[in-house]
Order: sequence, then C-alpha cells, then structure tokens
Amino acid sequence: MTARLILSRGREKSLLRRHPWVFSGAISRIEGNAISGETVDVCDHKGQWLARAAYSPQSQIRARVWTWQADENIDIEFFVRRIKKAGQWREWLARTDDLDSYRLIAGESDGLPGITIDKFAGYLVVQLLSAGAEYQRPALITALQQCYPECSVYDRSDVSVRKKEGLPLTQGFISGQQPPELLPITEHGMKLLVNIKEGHKTGYYLDQRDSRFALRRYSKDARVLNCFSYTGGFAVSALLGGCKEVISVDTSEAALDVARQNVELNNLPGDKAQYIRDDVFKLLRTYRDTGEKFDVIVMDPPKFVENKNQLTGACRGYKDINMLAMQLLNPGGILLTFSCSGLMTVELFQKIIADAALDAGKTVQLVDQLRQAADHPVISTYPEGLYLKGFVCYVE
Ligand code: SAH
Repeated sequence: MTARLILSRGREKSLLRRHPWVFSGAISRIEGNAISGETVDVCDHKGQWLARAAYSPQSQIRARVWTWQADENIDIEFFVRRIKKAGQWREWLARTDDLDSYRLIAGESDGLPGITIDKFAGYLVVQLLSAGAEYQRPALITALQQCYPECSVYDRSDVSVRKKEGLPLTQGFISGQQPPELLPITEHGMKLLVNIKEGHKTGYYLDQRDSRFALRRYSKDARVLNCFSYTGGFAVSALLGGCKEVISVDTSEAALDVARQNVELNNLPGDKAQYIRDDVFKLLRTYRDTGEKFDVIVMDPPKFVENKNQLTGACRGYKDINMLAMQLLNPGGILLTFSCSGLMTVELFQKIIADAALDAGKTVQLVDQLRQAADHPVISTYPEGLYLKGFVCYVE
C-alpha cells in the first residue's frame, strides 16, 4: 500500500496551483510507512487525492510531486515519457542554434524534481539532488538508456545539497564509454572543451550559452574584460565577434588553461587573448588605480548567496564589482552583468545595479535583459526555477 501524506486544512492551496513542493509544516500526518525517496500519495485534510510525490523525510521540502494524474505510476515508462517530452524542445533548439549540448532535464521545470541531466555531445551527465531522485535512480537510468541508446551515461551527483536530503555524494561512470579528459562540444557553432569528470556543475555552464552568444554583438573592435571567465566561453564569443583584445580573469589556473585551448580550437588569433589568474575584486581595483579602460566588461561571478542570511553581504559584493566595472568602462561602454543566485530577484539585482551606478557616478541605461538559456526553462507553476539573470548596461 502506498503511504499517504495528509495535509493540514488549507495547506493544499499551493498544490492546487501545481507548485511541486510540499513543506514539512504543511503536513498533518502520514498514514502508512514510507522510506526515504519512496513514492507517496499527497491528500488534503479530507483525504482527497492531490498528487503523487517522492518522500524526503530528512528535508524541509518533505515531498516533491512526480505527477498530478491519479492513474500515472512512477516507473520506467513514466521517466521515458518525461524525457521524451523534454527532449523535443531541446532537439529543436539544437537544430536551430547549432548545438550538440544542452540541459535535457531541468528538474522541477521538466516535471522531474531533483533531477538534472545535461547532454554533452554523446555523454549524458546525471545529477540527482533529492531522496526521490536517488530512489528512482535505476528506473531513471534505464529510461535514459532507452531514449538515448547511442549516449554514454556519467554520474555527477557530487553536490553538497544532497546532504540536506541525507544522501552521500556520488560520482562516476554508469554506462557506455568513459568520458575523455576534455570533450569537445558545439555551442552556437563554436567549439568548447568540457571536463565532465572534474568540471564545475556537470562540467560546464550551459546556462550562459545564450548570453555568451549575445556578447558577440557588442564585441566588434572592442577591448573586452571577461571577469570570472572559467574556461573562456565568453572570450571565444568576443573573439568571434571581432574584438580587438579580450582579457580573461579567473582564480583557477586549470580553467584558464582550458580557456587557452578553447581559443586555439576555434582557430582564433591567440595574440588577441590574455589570461590572468587573479581575484577579480582585487584586479578591478588595480585596474582602477592604474587607469586601465575597456569597451566591454563581462561580470559573471559564482553564486554568492546560498541562504537568506548571506543576502545582505552578497548585495554588497555585487554592488562593489559592478561599481568598479562601470568605472573602468570607456564612455559608451557595455557591461554584461549576471547573478546566478536564486535568492536574488530581478528587482533586487536591478536595484543593486542602480546603486552601483550612483556610487560610480555614471549614467547607466539598461538596454537588454538576459537569463538562463532556453534549455533551462521555467515552468509557470514554479517561478523559483528562474535563478540566472543578467542585464546589458550601456554606460555613459
Ligand atoms: N563565465 C563562465 C562561468 C563563470 S563561473 C562561463 O561562461 O563559463 C565562476 C568562475 O569564477 C569560476 O571559474 C571560479 O573559478 C571563478 N572565481 C570564483 N571566485 C573568484 C574570484 N574572487 N576571482 C576570480 N575568479 C573567481
């Protein structure tokens, strides 16, 4: 018998709006037994069926909804249906935008909470973030292999959020072939090397793809500063856009080394690209003091905010680097600035940019708004799915 989570009176509202999370505080009682990750039925206080969900006894998010259909079972066929549906949109994007790599499954937004699957050329990289996702691992992997028999599968569930679900961190080969140390992928026609085993996230920041493409438009004859460059995707884009010079800055020598190889791989003029291993906060100040100027600056920092307590400090950090960037721009310069912290709303980020402009003594016009790439959709019932936002600023 499937266990039943009975909600407290009035706590069914968010589920009726198809938000996929059930918080611990909304639950009145559990009828029957369920182990971590097992499928349960969620019911309102009268016992009326609402959804079928995965049980996470150790997490504040006590259950995550798999389906809103009472007759749908959570089995291999269920995962096949979800993967095929998600794949349709991505395959269209791949053809249209000249890509072979994309986020195939974006968790909640693709109806598969806690599951991330990225496709890098012929490799599928799986990241399971919740107890339910882990419990369903065998069914999910079988479904994935059925849908993409030509692809190899690799696990990168080595992320600390798993601890909140009481899960150990895991990583390793699942099926097909071992990934090479550096795998070439295609993004908007450019080639990039991805380290599936050790790269950040599942290997690469696929979510910035469309913003990297956007940079090409602003790069012609420009002197570009690429802050937090990682493996240089923005640098390759700037060179393709015809920049005069691009300086990539990152604290990771390994990332800069791949950035160098990425420029070579695309047969771009190496003498126009420079790589500096340094702390961006420090380097921006050095540049300000020495009077360096740029035409375009990309500001793509890592996540500064993990929880609400860190938000104030993070705002200061964002304001600081954006103010410095504005000061380093020539008149008529362009700043592409991003925040990938989910807790930072678009409104708050816009306010930080406004504060930075005031402190920099610059007039700043927002000329475009950017977000996570189109293969990272946000389902309308789960607005939290929007985590990466950016602005293109014209700085007088
Ligand atoms: N723009 C990249 C992704 C950036 S991820 C892309 O398009 O792929 C953030 C990067 O910031 C990481 O590579 C990390 O090594 C680097 N980083 C973190 N803190 C830093 C700091 N204080 N100074 C410079 N680089 C930093």
